[in-house]
Amino acid sequence: MKSKAPFSALPLSAAQLANLASLDYQEMTDIQAKSLPLILDRKDVIAQAKTGSGKTAAFGLGLLHNLNPTLFAIQALVICPTRELADQVAKSLRQLARHMDNIKILTLCGGSPMGPQIGSLEHGAHIIVGTPGRLHDHLARGTLDLRRVSMLVLDEADRMIDMGFYDEVVNIVRQCPKHRQTMLFSATYTEDIRKQSAGFLRQPVEIKVESFH
Ligand code: ADP
Ligand code: MG
Repeated sequence: MKSKAPFSALPLSAAQLANLASLDYQEMTDIQAKSLPLILDRKDVIAQAKTGSGKTAAFGLGLLHNLNPTLFAIQALVICPTRELADQVAKSLRQLARHMDNIKILTLCGGSPMGPQIGSLEHGAHIIVGTPGRLHDHLARGTLDLRRVSMLVLDEADRMIDMGFYDEVVNIVRQCPKHRQTMLFSATYTEDIRKQSAGFLRQPVEIKVESFH
């Protein structure tokens, strides 16, 4: 079932609409149509939809729209369960930010040497995409400052909990300001995730899409 919801129904810039057209994103997927109005309105959301349903652009368009371009500080943090997923998310965000000047998106994952990551952090970034272990390491060393984060995304939250990252995620979330927007994305939403994430979210709106598109 196609949603037939145009991106132009959203309060996105003309430049972003043109960028989406150039990426051949012709209309919103169901999860995008249901979550983006809330995300752009800075609401906390719990969004559940299958793999491949377009969750990255749902939070990505929200992060980029709500970013303060005049503030060069880490304003958004996306936590992903694996390096591969973090790389994919960063790549998608860079595509979605193609029309924006100088938006710096940095990935922080294990398997890459610490030194260059610390160097990149010293140069600054607007958005960090990372895995729990490495984010935790940077926080422990004092090389990552999350005090200006206003948007937090927990991507593939079900997998992060299954992979045993819960304690690290809690520690990272604690370093973010309390006054922020938190978005949890997951393919499944079990009672376990509900309980574990309850403390992270403020009056979240739950969105669930059953069908593929
Ligand atoms: P999920 O995170 O839900 O598993 P992704 O965000 O990785 O899904 O998106 C899956 C694929 O769909 C990606 O290749 C992405 O570029 C594409 N996609 C996302 N939204 C749209 C859209 N509105 N129109 C066309 N393609 C889209
Ligand atoms: Mg995804």
